Amino acid sequence: PQIFALKYSPLSTAAERSWRHRTPPRVPNLIGGNFVDSQSSEYIDVINPATQEVVSQVPLTTNEELKAAVSAAKQAFPSWRSTPITTRQRIMFKLQELIRRDMDKLAMNITTEQGKTLKDAQGDVFRGLEVVEHACGMATLQMGEFVSNVSNGIDTYSIREPLGVCAGICPFNFPAMIPLWMFPVAVTCGNTFVLKPSEKDPGASMILSELAIEAGLPNGVLNIVHGTNDIVNAICDDGDIRAISFVGSNTAGMHIYARGSAKGKRVQSNMGAKNHGIVMPDANIDATLNALVAAGFGAAGQRCMALSTVVFVGGSKYWEDKLVERAKALKVNSGTDPDADLGPVISKQAKERICRLIQSGVESGARLLIDGRNIVVPGYEQGNFIGPTILSDVTADMECYKEEIFGPVLICMQADSLEEAKDIVNRNRYGNGASIFTTSGVAARKFQTEIEAGQVGINVPIPVPLPFFSFTGSKASFAGDLNFYGKAGVNFYTQIKTVTQQWKDLPSGSGVSLAMPTSQ
Ligand code: NAD
Repeated sequence: PQIFALKYSPLSTAAERSWRHRTPPRVPNLIGGNFVDSQSSEYIDVINPATQEVVSQVPLTTNEELKAAVSAAKQAFPSWRSTPITTRQRIMFKLQELIRRDMDKLAMNITTEQGKTLKDAQGDVFRGLEVVEHACGMATLQMGEFVSNVSNGIDTYSIREPLGVCAGICPFNFPAMIPLWMFPVAVTCGNTFVLKPSEKDPGASMILSELAIEAGLPNGVLNIVHGTNDIVNAICDDGDIRAISFVGSNTAGMHIYARGSAKGKRVQSNMGAKNHGIVMPDANIDATLNALVAAGFGAAGQRCMALSTVVFVGGSKYWEDKLVERAKALKVNSGTDPDADLGPVISKQAKERICRLIQSGVESGARLLIDGRNIVVPGYEQGNFIGPTILSDVTADMECYKEEIFGPVLICMQADSLEEAKDIVNRNRYGNGASIFTTSGVAARKFQTEIEAGQVGINVPIPVPLPFFSFTGSKASFAGDLNFYGKAGVNFYTQIKTVTQQWKDLPSGSGVSLAMPTSQ
């Protein structure tokens, strides 16, 4: 499949034309409105997880190139921040239209680089598109406050101003949605941005950046650099970057939070998950089974909202038998196959790690109800496929429970009461999301009140909140204090200026007072 359309923005350069026609194509950086080849001698292969074909190569961007990207963003900031907010919003209106126009191209790129099914890839784009739509209302979202006559002839008002240059560091699992959680909100608030996509699937970010340019985003407002740990460390240390948005694993996220904060930056860090679903005996059977299968195995379990652990209250045998039946009916195939329910996992290393965690579960006493480890997909024998796998009788001390598996593996546990099930969830180190399935309002309300998780689902699997709310997280799943998108997202990308003005006739000769001014 064609990965990048051979369509050039007006800013297209000789370097850009060369990367597209190289085999495999080399992914350029985007600096100051130009797609430029990195001077790095080191490139990483971007690999199609269904076939092992090298889709493209991504550079380990040099520190000088990062400096150039930050400098372009810094230079673009003064005129961008003073561009009327209505104009900034209109660029988002145009961007959402262009994303819709190129939805299929974006989805195909995601399926090729990340592996998820085309339908799922469209969902990935669509959930990001909703954030762009939300950013179209930034004038209202960014409104300040005004109190008239706080003292005689004096008014006070607050203005939410952009910070300057902000940066975003992305994971592999949502190549479109997560970059779109970041830069549309940041730039519409008046900031300029440096994006570091995942080195495993940078293509969607590149297409989105082309669309942003086509939509009218001025040069230097959005820049893209590629790489891994070194470029991320350089972003954390850079003196001109004011804020970092991070989504990914705990190892990277806590490191970036500590290193970025030590340099005085704002950091919002969304990290790992072990999401639990509690199934009460009174739950609607069909809807609950569908929800567990979809949220456990969708995207091959590589969603931060995957429901990877089910706690059955009051007996699990009936539920497990039904789950096995439904999981067996799922079709594992290349994401490009229209009938595929789940595609491959991202890499050979990820597959090995998932298989090792399944084995560790078996060795510590869990029962393997279905084993997807040896699946072979005809025509895609080299793909990193794992079929739906269910481990039952899992206990909280097992490694397969303590670790985030991030694969199509559903873990089943048991509890005698809602209280006991809730304690299991709350003792887990992660707090990304948790769901309950029940027809009892009393149980649901107790769960909602007492559960320690950012996203709470009641008769739905872990929801990704729509962008007028925020994507949250508690315990080890989040570091920082302002969440992604929603009101909190606008607050993250802005700082408050409080202005006090006095307009009244000031009689002369009233004398000077050195006492602390107080409201009169
Ligand atoms: P990852 O942490 O390996 O990579 C994320 C980003 O950090 C990449 O851009 C990578 O280059 C960089 N990075 C990785 N290790 C680094 C290091 N040691 N130092 C500096 N930078 C580093 O994560 P991933 O495997 O791409 O994504 C999967 C993880 O993301 C899972 O844990 C998943 O739960 C989490 N996730 C969380 C959310 C959420 O909102 N909570 C959403 C999506 C994914």
